[in-house]
Amino acid sequence: MLNEMYASIKGTGLLLEVIQPNSLTELHFGKYDPERKKFAFKTLIATILSARSKDETIIKVVEKLWKKYSTPEEIADAPLEKLEELVYSSGTYHQKAIRIKETSKIIHEQFQDQVPDTLEELIKLPGVGRKVANCVLNISFNKDAIAVDTHVHRISNRIGWVTTKNPEKTEKALELLFPKPHWKRINYTLVSFGKNICKPKNPLCSNCTINNQCLKLIKPPKKSKKKTKKLKN
Ligand code: SF4
Repeated sequence: MLNEMYASIKGTGLLLEVIQPNSLTELHFGKYDPERKKFAFKTLIATILSARSKDETIIKVVEKLWKKYSTPEEIADAPLEKLEELVYSSGTYHQKAIRIKETSKIIHEQFQDQVPDTLEELIKLPGVGRKVANCVLNISFNKDAIAVDTHVHRISNRIGWVTTKNPEKTEKALELLFPKPHWKRINYTLVSFGKNICKPKNPLCSNCTINNQCLKLIKPPKKSKKKTKKLKN
């Protein structure tokens, strides 16, 4: 099923593919270019900034940031106000600027400018949860891990692969379901598939390549509190 999903979303310009050209194609076909490690810091910062933001926005933000500061030491020493200005359009810019500055400081001072390559060390960094850590392990270090974000969690439950309440449980359930060699391609395949086909609202089931294999366990959208208030009025 992953192959069919990948065929329908190939070339959709995902953030990590732009940051590390050819990385997704390489991951999909099981190749690994050791040069990818060189992009680990940029991949980490881009993934921290990508929380609740669109890929297109983050691609521009990272380009702008990298023109000014591009090493752990430079970002660690940059004035917070300047970082806030550079990452402003990524949303929650104050918090994100603090996180990338602190993370850069730790990488510079404790890891000699090298991004750590274990889940345990990565999740200790500010702004780095399991999803961000697993993305970096996949993309930059070619490690077997399943990065579960909102798209991976939603689609896995809709298709019927898993029945889980949160991303962490989905990660564990998918690890049991898929053989390790497939783990690396789950995130980027489902993220792009979720943005283009199996969208949060109004999934395009009639145009979906896995329509006849999917249980379509689609939950109705939650009513927002604002709307409920309006109805009461
Ligand atoms: S058939 Fe519909 S619910 Fe199932 S994966 Fe495709 S778009 Fe999503």
